Amino acid sequence: MADPILSWGRVHRFEQDVDILPRDATARGTLSETAFTGNESVIAHGLGRSYGDVALNEGGRVLLTPRHDFVLEANWETGLFRASAGLSLAQLHKITVPRGWFVPVTPGTKFVTLGGAVANDVHGKNHHQASSFGHHVTRLKLCRSDGEAMICSREENSEFFALTLGGLGLTGIIDWVEFQLKPIASSNLFVENIACPDLAGFFELSQESAAWPYTVMWVDCLAPEKARGRGIFTRGRPVDSGPLQPHDEEKSVKWPFTTPSFLLNPVTLKTFNALYRMRPGARFVGEQRYDPFFYPLDRIREWNKLYGKKGFFQHQAIIPMESGREGIAALLEAIEKAGQGSFLAVLKVHGPERSPGVMSFCREGVSLALDFANKGRKTLALLERLDAIVLEHGGRIYPAKDGHMSASFFQACYPQWTQLESARDPMISSSFWRRVTQND
Ligand SMILES: Cc1cc2nc3c(=O)[nH]c(=O)nc-3n(C[C@H](O)[C@H](O)[C@H](O)COP(=O)(O)OP(=O)(O)OC[C@H]3O[C@@H](n4cnc5c(N)ncnc54)[C@H](O)[C@@H]3O)c2cc1C
Repeated sequence: MADPILSWGRVHRFEQDVDILPRDATARGTLSETAFTGNESVIAHGLGRSYGDVALNEGGRVLLTPRHDFVLEANWETGLFRASAGLSLAQLHKITVPRGWFVPVTPGTKFVTLGGAVANDVHGKNHHQASSFGHHVTRLKLCRSDGEAMICSREENSEFFALTLGGLGLTGIIDWVEFQLKPIASSNLFVENIACPDLAGFFELSQESAAWPYTVMWVDCLAPEKARGRGIFTRGRPVDSGPLQPHDEEKSVKWPFTTPSFLLNPVTLKTFNALYRMRPGARFVGEQRYDPFFYPLDRIREWNKLYGKKGFFQHQAIIPMESGREGIAALLEAIEKAGQGSFLAVLKVHGPERSPGVMSFCREGVSLALDFANKGRKTLALLERLDAIVLEHGGRIYPAKDGHMSASFFQACYPQWTQLESARDPMISSSFWRRVTQND
């Protein structure tokens, strides 16, 4: 039997039919020819790197897009690039890096499709300078279930353009995406890793590093009160000359088994965090290839099985700068007290430049992302406590990473959701969308 279609967190296990968008089909044809029955709906599914249920559809269909992976047009003089929405960043870099071009914004894994990057309007370590992916999209083609195909840009069908960037796949199936690549003189970056003693240190380092294009901090989420917010601050910038060598996927290894849940306890978490903080690489300063810099977790395939059979939740919150210090301190305190933090927690300052996406998650502020092994009600109760802190500090959480938020919480964070609902294709829906729009 084929493996069920899961998301990265592996918590939600739904009955759903699976269709594949064939290599030689058009998204428009596939969508308008799909034989829908009754109220059955469909949702596009890229590489399933969203953690919760945005790309899942209980009782309906999912349309797998990654075979639809053509490069349609590339101008190597200007860097304007157009490809089918199923093309992944891993595939893209193999083509563009040797020619001196890189994706303008990348999340922490290269195994995402262009469609997924648009639908979640993903962000990366350069948000403070480059905004999110949608900011760099010039045009896209959107296919609707009534057979209409629309070219959308800031000028043409601009309302659909803005609602599709960060629109969670609900406005239609994205057939192709056109965007502006970023020139690079080398596939290497100059990187500095700096030990950071506490949260105040994180804000100081972020400010001092504002001219560096890439910044992020790994934070020890179980540190005691006096060291709350300690971690390893990383900053990087492209180097001026060097090789233009794409990554080598052969170098990755596979996580060998699904971890038994008894191994995921406060003692192992604290031990991991201490070892991670003290590892030799934590003080690394020098040149690094783009793959380990942007995608350290890609080296372990299926690392999501680390969290055991019941899977895990991720919680990524962004809090406006005015209340960022207090909000993040309150979140870290609640996590430390609950003893349920994660191996990899990430803090990042985000910049003021907004993408046109109406529903985009990013805003100027500070974000904290971390994983929680699924321990049932105990974990859900902690996530609800964290949500309350986020709301109290004027923040919101990221749908791409969410598997738990309530309808009332979502609607308070994203009051503009009704605009997306008005533009949603009537044949498209997801488990996420029903969860957050059908009231608690
Ligand atoms: C290790 C790791 C690190 C990550 N780091 C970051 C990060 O730093 N920043 C960040 O922003 N995100 C991050 N993410 C999340 C990830 O970037 C997003 O969830 C991304 O959208 C996943 O893309 P995907 O191709 O796997 O899409 P899926 O997860 O399969 O789908 C995501 C959404 O895209 C829609 N979609 C996909 N294709 C189409 C299409 N052709 N037409 C219409 N809708 C479509 C789906 O319906 C769904 O709503 C990370 C994820 C992992 C696993």
